[in-house]
Amino acid sequence: MKFPKTRNKYCPFCKKHTEHKVLEGKKKGRNDTHPMSRGSRQRLKHRGKLGIGNHGKYSMPPILSRRMFGRKTSKKTDFRFECSGCKKMHGMANGGFRVRKIEFK
Ligand SMILES: [Zn+2]
Repeated sequence: MKFPKTRNKYCPFCKKHTEHKVLEGKKKGRNDTHPMSRGSRQRLKHRGKLGIGNHGKYSMPPILSRRMFGRKTSKKTDFRFECSGCKKMHGMANGGFRVRKIEFK
């Protein structure tokens, strides 16, 4: 879906409608924000716990053909709006909506 780069929106800081820059916020996972924390992927790799063997778990993959399964092909939008007046940022009131692809015009 295509979205405009700027948009008139209500700013809760200025308490009036101003032009806002639309930015796409990206949600970072725990492994990105804390790369060397306990149980993180990088730390496991560091200790050599990642890669060979499956630590006494299943040796065969589950039969998936009989089950209904599927990943979602779209992601929820995470827009941030930057006010042109006070340069403060605020998010969407609702949690966003599902789209496959985001494009800014
Ligand atoms: Zn503002």
